[in-house]
Amino acid sequence: MSCINESVCKLCRRENVKLFLKGDRCFTDKCSFERRPYPPGQHGQSRLKFSEFALQLREKQKTKRYYGVYEKQFRKYFHEADRRRGVTGTELLRLLETRLDNVVYTLGFASSRREARQLVKHDHFLVNGSKNNIPSFNVEKGDVIEVREGSRGVNKVLAGIESAQKREIPDWLQADHGAFKGTVKDVPSRENITLAVEENMIVEYYSR
Ligand code: SF4
Repeated sequence: MSCINESVCKLCRRENVKLFLKGDRCFTDKCSFERRPYPPGQHGQSRLKFSEFALQLREKQKTKRYYGVYEKQFRKYFHEADRRRGVTGTELLRLLETRLDNVVYTLGFASSRREARQLVKHDHFLVNGSKNNIPSFNVEKGDVIEVREGSRGVNKVLAGIESAQKREIPDWLQADHGAFKGTVKDVPSRENITLAVEENMIVEYYSR
């Protein structure tokens, strides 16, 4: 997404996890992380000891990059999560997971979160029948996300649907690719969020 300028595959290697930033390529043996699963750079393969702070920072960076949000926005999500009832780390992930761009990607109408963000911004989606071009919009239980009728032939949407056959759609969402529609069946639980992250470390990072 716009905040990510360096080679996106390096980000996966830096965070030591697949962040799925390159669409279809992430599911092939061309994936850089599969071929070189160690951090980039001269000391990438050295065994380094990380401080507690460095570990917390990495968990925060990993999550931010996975969802493709800016630092300022991420911090705002943290404060919102902290304000809510419930476990702060889970609430933070829930806020990120229910962003419209993430939902469009997860439903299978785009090949990556970055592409989903672009498609949303370019007015290709309706939420509950109304135009919505705000990638950070948080969907709620019962919301219906739909590809606009005039956008159903858009190559990126069709490629997204094809690419979605390689992924599983989580239980909290329901997709009907034939009708170019998806429904939010429930709020996502922690188990529904597949990113391997220790969110309590992000909470610790911001609570220093
Ligand atoms: Fe990450 Fe692999 Fe996708 Fe590159 S191809 S963005 S390394 S998951």
